[in-house]
Amino acid sequence: MVLSHAVSDSDAYIQCTFASRHLQTPLPRFKMPENSLPKEAAFQIINDELMLDGNPRLNLASFVTTWMEPECDKLVMAAMNKNYVDMDEYPVTTELQNRCVNMIARLFNAPLEESEVAVGVGTVGSSEAIMLAGLAFKRRWQNKRKAQGLPHDNPNIVTGANVQVCWEKFARYFEVELKEVKLQEGYYVMDPAKAVDLVDENTICVAAILGSTLNGEFEDVKLLNDLLLEKNNETGWDTPIHVDAASGGFIAPFLYPELEWDFRLPLVKSINVSGHKYGLVYAGIGWAIWRSKEDLPEELIFHINYLGADQPTFTLNFSKGSSQVIAQYYQLIRLGFEGYQSVMENCQENAMVLKAGLEKTGRFTIASKDNGVPLVAFSLKDNTFHNEFEISEMLRRYGWIVPAYTMPADAQHVTVLRVVVREDFSRTLAERLVLDITKVLNELDHLPSKNTNSQSHHAMGKDGVIKVSKKTALETQREVTDLWKKFVMASKKPSKVC
Ligand SMILES: *Cc1c(COP(=O)(O)O)cnc(C)c1O
Repeated sequence: MVLSHAVSDSDAYIQCTFASRHLQTPLPRFKMPENSLPKEAAFQIINDELMLDGNPRLNLASFVTTWMEPECDKLVMAAMNKNYVDMDEYPVTTELQNRCVNMIARLFNAPLEESEVAVGVGTVGSSEAIMLAGLAFKRRWQNKRKAQGLPHDNPNIVTGANVQVCWEKFARYFEVELKEVKLQEGYYVMDPAKAVDLVDENTICVAAILGSTLNGEFEDVKLLNDLLLEKNNETGWDTPIHVDAASGGFIAPFLYPELEWDFRLPLVKSINVSGHKYGLVYAGIGWAIWRSKEDLPEELIFHINYLGADQPTFTLNFSKGSSQVIAQYYQLIRLGFEGYQSVMENCQENAMVLKAGLEKTGRFTIASKDNGVPLVAFSLKDNTFHNEFEISEMLRRYGWIVPAYTMPADAQHVTVLRVVVREDFSRTLAERLVLDITKVLNELDHLPSKNTNSQSHHAMGKDGVIKVSKKTALETQREVTDLWKKFVMASKKPSKVC
């Protein structure tokens, strides 16, 4: 089974114009060629094809880092051939990962003495970190239930319906029921009170998101902690909290140091963060941090012999590259607290410039919050004739990649466009984007609506007379959104934003 779609499935051969200097016959697309190629030809073929990929710097859909300093790139290239798991061969890399874990745990206010070692691990990304944290909660809950002689075969986890797809993966792969708090129009994060209502004796943890993927908003972890403490006191349970700080973990400590969302709250037992998002490293690094040793069941940890000493590991995969760990260490010491703070402040300011520009058009409602992850999520005030998906399509022509998506239950009728502001998205680019969005709006205003039957709804009455009834704006909006959702699904775009 091929899991990803090719750009074009129709041609059996790749026709390569420039490489034909080295190559007489076309290259089969899906079969390994019989003979070797000259290295120049192989390079040329691949390099030419990749030109048609989007430009990562204009990819405003992603939180993932697309720019690092040349010095860091140099370290990354030099470490490309090091396997991270060879800890006895590369003890310094292992040491750098341990330093990163300790720095991040302290950034998240883990209760550690000056010289105490933090509990955490470098992963491929937040998804792996979340699988590990989820497993630790599941195992802890099972152990406790077993010790109490209670059933332990029906665990559940409580989240908002706005969770990133990796939580759904965790639930399905590791057989934990996912109990989602539904959203509502105008409120796109998990309501802590509703979450606590869903908690029962089988709940392994409540997962809160610091920086919802949909609109960047921080969930109220402090309120969740307080309400859950109350419930735990009443029931005698000890349901813990995990914070998915994939995007917000490197934002909140620098922009909102007073905000209590981390290990300062007693029920927060583990936190994940993506090093490759606002940790400012290229794709391939995430971190899982536990509050203390007690929160990570010993039986999940494997022990490798490391230079004769014991090296505990807790990861899903074995081999992986070392470069991202090294790059993370570079960013942490190169930027320091001050440097991260100014990068994040800059992102936040650029997000505000973009937001102000969009508001000035008078055509959009802003769905993101000013004090969250630096992004702007926005909907058309009126999408009866043209909608957000069309804007997204048309912006592609200017090179911009701005995704449009519908909100999850119960706000499916709302569609938003989202621009993530990363370090490399300058103020000039923000202003340029507003200009291009204005152009697209003007173009759309002069195009006929794709949704021809949007205004009225024809129905045959019992008496055979065709009645034209006016639909409510909401009904129309829902219908248009449904239609586009089907269209987008069919044209192989992912349905979840990441
Ligand atoms: C990006 C993201 C994830 C997944 O993180 P990866 O590092 O890409 O695996 C999980 N949760 C949230 C809230 C995210 O934004």
